[in-house]
Amino acid sequence: MQPGDGRSVHRAGRGAVASLVVTAVPDLARNDTRTTAAPPVDLGAGRGPDWLDRYLSDSLGELVQFRRQLHRHPELAFAERRTTDRIEQALAAAGITGRRLPGGTGFVADLNPDAPGPLIGLRADIDALPLQEASGLPFASEVPGTAHACGHDVHTTVLLGTALALAAAPHPVGRVRLLFQPAEESMDGGAAALVQAGAVDDVDLLFALHCEPRTPVGKVGLKVGPITSTADSIEIRVSGPGGHTSRPHLTADVVNALGLLATNLPLLLTRRLDPRAAAVLVWGQIRAGEAENAIPQSGVLRGTLRVMRRDAWDTAGELITELVGAILEPTGVQYQLSVERGVPPVENDAYTTALLRAGVVSALGADAVTEAEQSTGAEDFADLLEHAPGTLARLGVWDGEGQQSDLHSAAFRADERAIAVGVRTLVHTVLAAAGEPAVLPPAAGRTG
Ligand SMILES: [Zn+2]
Ligand SMILES: [Zn+2]
Repeated sequence: MQPGDGRSVHRAGRGAVASLVVTAVPDLARNDTRTTAAPPVDLGAGRGPDWLDRYLSDSLGELVQFRRQLHRHPELAFAERRTTDRIEQALAAAGITGRRLPGGTGFVADLNPDAPGPLIGLRADIDALPLQEASGLPFASEVPGTAHACGHDVHTTVLLGTALALAAAPHPVGRVRLLFQPAEESMDGGAAALVQAGAVDDVDLLFALHCEPRTPVGKVGLKVGPITSTADSIEIRVSGPGGHTSRPHLTADVVNALGLLATNLPLLLTRRLDPRAAAVLVWGQIRAGEAENAIPQSGVLRGTLRVMRRDAWDTAGELITELVGAILEPTGVQYQLSVERGVPPVENDAYTTALLRAGVVSALGADAVTEAEQSTGAEDFADLLEHAPGTLARLGVWDGEGQQSDLHSAAFRADERAIAVGVRTLVHTVLAAAGEPAVLPPAAGRTG
């Protein structure tokens, strides 16, 4: 379909990813004071099992150092080669081997493949964002324009720590697949790469944690049902012959057409989609024209559509096609519409959420559980949930005192006590999912 034919293009696929160049960075000296520090307080210390307490007491400092090194050297979607190297090396040092994804970034490994019980998939995303960090941290990004502002360095470290802790258990605990996923932040997402590589084919249950800067450290937010939303990219290009602003009747006014679209399309969507789906179309770019007295020949309007329910999302693309046509028809402009579908909402399944809840209670106590809200952000963990039931939980990273810095903000900070909280949560979730007796809360005594 050609531009300007007055009809729409409704693309179902994901967009192409621009090629990215990341400068190689030398390994850090282990005693670099920007990344070494006294380990943060382990909020679950002493809650067991003994082998988990021992692992964290011995190794939490090294985990924090690992996280800080990732943080200093963030890598963008599908360019996470150094990050993947570090994951592979750290696992290999504990005798855990696996495979890279065919694209060369991302890593998959199995623990205790012969153990009984379900195959438990644990997923961490490993990529960073294209933005300039302004956190003021001593271990802030050293790669210009690239930052771990979504906490994926924390997720990666938590999954690594979980693997190393499980490897240190005196007997095989759970049949576990470690899924270190590239490119969560890319529209052409890394979850699809995991699926294509067959990494989730035989997985029975899936779990993931995501940093939540509005939740205090020590808390884990849970929710059954949808916990994230969709995010589609919408682009409308309009065109006409152009002309003098004194004679709009002799041409087609593309600026006026863009104005009609910018205000009417979001409004009409609220009347045509179920309000409970909370669909919100917000424009991020509008561009046309050069001179105050010339009607330009072309213009563009770009934005994102977020929908909180899958059924409404499934109908939104066709509805937008209909509405754009209806709005623009009387203007006489030609147009091209592109609706680039993102991921569906992450829908947390009840059983796996109950397992994760049991894991949090066992690891940290009932007070550590908090109810999560549905976010308007999108997460490609949803693509994995097309293949197995699972749950995404919110890992509190707010220190409870300072300013709350949002995800994807240049000032984003994560309280590093969340690393041990995340490791304890995932280890106990594996115990619960594997059907091992959960560790009893301290009031009733605890086991090793
Ligand atoms: Zn993000
Ligand atoms: Zn993220």
